[in-house]
Amino acid sequence: MSPETDVGQACPPAMPGTGPDCVEQAFEQLHELVRRARPNEDLTPLERAFRFAEQRHSGQLRSSGEPYMLHPLAVTTLLAEQQMDIVCLETGLLHDVVEDTTATLDEIRVNFGEDVARCVDGVTKLSKVNFYSREERQAESVRKMLLAMVTDIRVILVKLADRIHNMRTLDSLPRDRQERIAQETLEIYAPIAHRLGMGKIRGELEDLAFRYAEPEAALDLINEIDSKRQANEAFLEEIKHSVEVNLGREGIPARVQSRVKRAYSVYQKIKRQRIPLDQIYDLLGLRIITDSVKNCYAALGVIHNEWHPIPGRIKDFIAIPRSNLYQSLHTSVIGPGGLSFEVQIRTEEMHRIAEEGIAAHWKYKEGKRGPAEDDQRVAWLRQLVEWQREMRDPGEFMSTLKVDLYPEEVYTFTPKGKVIVLPRDATPIDFAYSIHSDVGNTCVGAKVNGRIVPLKYTLRNGDVCEILTQPGHVPSRDWLTLVKTSKARNKIKHVINAIERAKAIEIGQKYLEKEARRFGVALTRITKAEMEAVASEYGYSKIEDLHAALGYGKFSARQVLQKLAPDQVQPEQPEPPAKSLSAPAPATGVPVGGDTHGDLVIRVKGCDDLLVYRAKCCNPIRGEAIVGYVTRGKGVAVHATSCSNVQNLMYEVERKIDVEWARAAAESFPVRLTVLTDDRPGMLNQLTNVLFTEQSNIRSLDARSDDRRGADGAVVEMTAEIRDKKQLERVVSAIRRISGVRDVERVQ
Ligand code: MN
Repeated sequence: MSPETDVGQACPPAMPGTGPDCVEQAFEQLHELVRRARPNEDLTPLERAFRFAEQRHSGQLRSSGEPYMLHPLAVTTLLAEQQMDIVCLETGLLHDVVEDTTATLDEIRVNFGEDVARCVDGVTKLSKVNFYSREERQAESVRKMLLAMVTDIRVILVKLADRIHNMRTLDSLPRDRQERIAQETLEIYAPIAHRLGMGKIRGELEDLAFRYAEPEAALDLINEIDSKRQANEAFLEEIKHSVEVNLGREGIPARVQSRVKRAYSVYQKIKRQRIPLDQIYDLLGLRIITDSVKNCYAALGVIHNEWHPIPGRIKDFIAIPRSNLYQSLHTSVIGPGGLSFEVQIRTEEMHRIAEEGIAAHWKYKEGKRGPAEDDQRVAWLRQLVEWQREMRDPGEFMSTLKVDLYPEEVYTFTPKGKVIVLPRDATPIDFAYSIHSDVGNTCVGAKVNGRIVPLKYTLRNGDVCEILTQPGHVPSRDWLTLVKTSKARNKIKHVINAIERAKAIEIGQKYLEKEARRFGVALTRITKAEMEAVASEYGYSKIEDLHAALGYGKFSARQVLQKLAPDQVQPEQPEPPAKSLSAPAPATGVPVGGDTHGDLVIRVKGCDDLLVYRAKCCNPIRGEAIVGYVTRGKGVAVHATSCSNVQNLMYEVERKIDVEWARAAAESFPVRLTVLTDDRPGMLNQLTNVLFTEQSNIRSLDARSDDRRGADGAVVEMTAEIRDKKQLERVVSAIRRISGVRDVERVQ
């Protein structure tokens, strides 16, 4: 076997010429390659995909002047060499038609089925990803995003083949594009290939890109390695022969390959360790491929018996595989003439994984895959993505060939191609705030992939999101229920609080002026200092803080005026608690039943810290449709939507606020009922029985004869504690069924 020199490995002669028949010839070669590998498979889908793509790409040329169709054919040939399945090959042929021709995804779906359409769509989306910056964190995001966007692993295999062919034919592009594409290959695609364990593709991508990304360094290094080529080859031949003899003597079945470290890895090592080429221990090496793990360790013993190992250079990646599942034993030894070299020892299976990685698991095989192999693939993927978190049923997971490598994140783009990483279920509002808080605050709409979407839209991997803004626009409270990021939440709260404070200051000021007029206090005569003195009595350093507190309903204007002009304003009389039930909502915002913490059974959607009380006019109970109204200085009044006052109140639309019944259902609401009955003994007893049966407490009950309503009439007024609308309906109809009851009315 001749030395397998990875360095400067000649690209396979790409395509048979560029004559008029070159496209047909290339397809025939591809067809023959696939047919030989699987004589029993029907290859008409492959032929149909070729005809379709050829027709759509006809007349298009690559920058080299070749017919464009040679590119998809070359990509597909690479995939065929990796023994990919027919869906993958069809995708290879069709991978550029949606992006570059008139063909649509629907046409692909109709002609080639769901799987091919999904894969072509995936490749098309990946090709739209702009490589944004050279910043390392951004590169990491792009890599993760590309993987996250891939729902079918065949998409990434096609994309990598596409990239390999583009790199092989990079010469025909202008210098600046060469450099950019090479850089992108080094920072994005080669690491993805590495992560997926595809050592061979990674190696080729890196060495191709190296020459364009750093032409001078690459040329110097390749020349330097080349200058010793003859000596190196002789040396490798000598040690290879020696190892083969020694292994044979010990009865270890193995094939031995010699190798020279790839130029780009040498370059990275030289840069990283700042050492000259001749100090690299593992520039030259042997690879021993044997039949079992046991023989791997046996072979290691044979090597160490022959040559002295360099301390600290023995690595057991069989016992502890790398995160991309690479397995091998590595050792560096001092060989003949004091020249060091590296030996890698592995089994055939380990070798296949090291070269092909994830692709090894997607190879076309005659017949069905056995369950054992499926298990292996699952295990491999499971480890590959380093999932510590729970995964869905692995069987189902694999049967759909879907991958979800980063289930908690979603990768989206700005129109310029910058990646924005957001948590799952994030909305355009999160997106807007992650760009800039001004963009978030003035966001009025969003376009995703060119279409207007509602702000509650859930962003998906690969979405290109454009935020529509309007100067002066402010966030709405509803947004708090839509956002997933704490950054957006905090910014929205901040702005809303500032707006509410400004509003409260205004309301508080007007409230004070109005009350001052009522009591005949001339505010203009009160000095700033006097005002500040009162403010500081309440613990505020600024007058506007006092106004805000009035606006928020923390205390009444009358209390403040009393301090400012004690001789003109009498102190407020504390209201007797019994009366508070029927009294209009007090200015202090104390809600029903003397509940000083506000009405906890109702909450404002998306905000827990607003004072809420039920409006006296309609006194809504649980289950009724409700709406909130931000009052002037008394918190949020909650009305039944059916309340007649609501329509009048809602002319100030910005004061309307969404409210909902809180979940904790143990509470009840006082409901006043008036019952007109015959005046007969036992009636009260029957009424209270109804409420007893419903386990409803009676707060007050007052019965009197009322002859105006007819002979022997009586009226019963009672306040009962009712849990919800349904219970109220049951109570009312039970009361109506009592004989002698003429009417029941809920008192609003
Ligand atoms: Mn392409």
